[in-house]
Amino acid sequence: MNGFSFDAIAADYHWQLSLITLVSIFVVNFIAKKIAVALVPTLREARAANHEAYATKMQKASYAANQKWNRKWGVVFFAVIFGLIIPFCVTVEAQPWWRYLVDMFVILMVYDFFYYLAHRFLFHDEGFFGGPLLWVHAVHHRQHNPCRGDSSFIHPIEVALGLSLYVGTVFLLSRFMGDFHVVTIVITWIAFSEINLHNHDLWTADKFPFRYANTMAKMHHNHHARFTGGNFATISLFYDWLFGTLDYGDKPRKAGSVKRRRKAQVSPQNGAS
Ligand SMILES: [Zn+2]
Ligand SMILES: [Zn+2]
Repeated sequence: MNGFSFDAIAADYHWQLSLITLVSIFVVNFIAKKIAVALVPTLREARAANHEAYATKMQKASYAANQKWNRKWGVVFFAVIFGLIIPFCVTVEAQPWWRYLVDMFVILMVYDFFYYLAHRFLFHDEGFFGGPLLWVHAVHHRQHNPCRGDSSFIHPIEVALGLSLYVGTVFLLSRFMGDFHVVTIVITWIAFSEINLHNHDLWTADKFPFRYANTMAKMHHNHHARFTGGNFATISLFYDWLFGTLDYGDKPRKAGSVKRRRKAQVSPQNGAS
């Protein structure tokens, strides 16, 4: 590597901004949640129900071991993401207000497209070599009626892949669209993580303004109830609608899927930790 390219890379490496982004994600998320839970009884009730379900699951040693493993390695993944990737994608240069909205929308929807493909064709048996990472994803699907905490009950390889997909999308888009504002990265990260968590929420409120929240949780629970069937995207239902894989819980199971699923569940490779 010559001096020029090193200088160019160094000039584009904004570690201070990345650090501000990381801290803001935690602080904003923490404060927003406190306020939301204090003000909205429905969120308080959902939170209590999900905490209770999670506490029960954590009493099982293998379940707790997986969660512990993911928390531990989460620190390493965050260090790589905010130490090596986000510093090249972030800016504090002022932008027109609409640019924040467009950027957030594009990041989330492009990520959702990549996730849809990975989830459908790598994690499930959808005609692509039998789902090469089906054995990895089988860990997450041990939960047939998940609670919020099951969002992180996943094989470590899936954690790494999921985060890489998200951060890879941000990095790739920043090459075409220019660096994203700190505010954009903070809000999209919180949205990405909260939507993933919410999809696993045990959720009962189905009246306005919680209809959409109810649909999203219900659709992902349909996905968990059986190993196949649809609802592969995570941020929205758009790609499942587009590609005809919406699952309202009434789809027949595909031939062969039961056998494959059983095989995945008894495989020694799918240990949770
Ligand atoms: Zn799945
Ligand atoms: Zn899930």
